[in-house]
Amino acid sequence: MTVRLVVIGGGPAGVSAATTAARLGAEVTIIERDVIGGAAHLWDCIPSKAMIATGGALAFLGRSAGMGLEEVEPTIDIESLDGRLRHIMDDLAQKNNDLLSSQNVRIITGTGKMLDAHTVEATLSDGTTEAIPADKILLSTGSRPRIPEWCHPDGERILTTRDAYPPPEIPSHLTVVGSGVTGVEFVHMFTSLGAEVSLIVSRQHVLPGKDPEVAYELEKNFIDRGVHLYKGARSTSIEREGDEVVVKCDDGRVVRSSHAVLAIGSIPNSESLGLDEAGVEHEWGYVTIDHNAQSNIEHIYAAGDLSGKLPLSSVATMQGRKIAEHMLGMHADRPHRHINYSKAASAIFTEPEIADVGVSEAEAFSQGRKVRVTKVPFSASAKAMINDDVRGFVKLISDPATGVVLGGSIVGRHAAELISVVALCVQNQLTVSDLAETIFVHPTLSETLTEAAE
Ligand SMILES: Cc1cc2nc3c(=O)[nH]c(=O)nc-3n(C[C@H](O)[C@H](O)[C@H](O)COP(=O)(O)OP(=O)(O)OC[C@H]3O[C@@H](n4cnc5c(N)ncnc54)[C@H](O)[C@@H]3O)c2cc1C
Repeated sequence: MTVRLVVIGGGPAGVSAATTAARLGAEVTIIERDVIGGAAHLWDCIPSKAMIATGGALAFLGRSAGMGLEEVEPTIDIESLDGRLRHIMDDLAQKNNDLLSSQNVRIITGTGKMLDAHTVEATLSDGTTEAIPADKILLSTGSRPRIPEWCHPDGERILTTRDAYPPPEIPSHLTVVGSGVTGVEFVHMFTSLGAEVSLIVSRQHVLPGKDPEVAYELEKNFIDRGVHLYKGARSTSIEREGDEVVVKCDDGRVVRSSHAVLAIGSIPNSESLGLDEAGVEHEWGYVTIDHNAQSNIEHIYAAGDLSGKLPLSSVATMQGRKIAEHMLGMHADRPHRHINYSKAASAIFTEPEIADVGVSEAEAFSQGRKVRVTKVPFSASAKAMINDDVRGFVKLISDPATGVVLGGSIVGRHAAELISVVALCVQNQLTVSDLAETIFVHPTLSETLTEAAE
């Protein structure tokens, strides 16, 4: 009998599950209220990285003298930057729609809600509704920026991360509230685009939870670029005073700027999903899932940000694929490889770029775990010199007894690409010798990985 799958939410998790399930023979309906591709394409990963790439091009041209060129002074054209972002997003949305259609997935533009554990209702923009029977349901409605009660974003000067792609003008002075991954990416993005930037850091260092050495490199770069760091300060209010935005902190400090952006985390889109009507357990709005991404109701799964695991697009995509395979019994006669979230690679698209995977040095130290740590700076790399950018390093963490690569951190140009090699080692328990004996292209930054493995 054909399995009828209904997916609510068409972000990376939903699209990947829908296409995989359809390819495996399921009859799939996906309900998306906004744009197929999800917040990831519309608000988060793609526009932020496209803006950062523009800022990077600006910075690179500004360093033209280092490449043996006459100095140039490029300027930003907001209209064409806006056009560039729209073009990328439209193109990706079209490609996702085409992909789903090519697998005969039914796409409904509307809002989905479970009426009970086997019925999903789609409400279209004209108010009409359709009840769709389902054998399996995937909840993948993602998340949205958290807005505390002391802040009222107006989309003009008090912004959430969703108001910034691009703003009508580059702020003359932007205060970024929040120094996690999103906050520091915004600092980098707007500093590169020419804004004066202040950063409110609630702890003593940016990027809580990351390797302190990595966080230190980033802070050093921010200070070199003139970013004002307000450490150990928690914002308690953000208000407009004419053309100014005033951010007040709990230690009495007051930061005045032309704009402020909130980057203090996200909350799940689950309040009107019908979780209680269907009997699905949840905590703080996140659906509770097991290692197969199944909720307490066997045929209802959750993936992506809504599942409360690692909020990354890459993780959401992998969950979606694994869920589809599990739903359709692909692993009935062989062991299913569950996602090991601790082995997911992640990156921060700042300057220098930062990426890591697996066990960090600080983590191993705090657990009293014996590890071998090797660190090689890019300053010795021929390719880094050719690129006129020798900042950063590669750090490899391995098991001293077996040589198995347990983790790694990379700071520097193209770190987000380079970490893939380390991620492959961590995922497949390859050893430092495996890495050291692989012949990489010369001259490349990847050679620094083999050096760190020797
Ligand atoms: C500024 C920023 C930058 C980021 N950059 C990166 C990055 O570089 N790399 C990375 O891996 N991750 C990044 N992330 C995280 C990434 O965006 C999320 O982890 C990812 O979007 C999660 O995918 P998802 O499928 O769970 O949900 P989403 O992408 O949020 O998609 C969910 C979809 O569900 C729809 N929806 C919600 N409720 C309903 C409903 N009731 N009915 C129908 N549709 C509904 C929404 O409209 C949305 O389209 C970033 C996040 C932020 C905030």
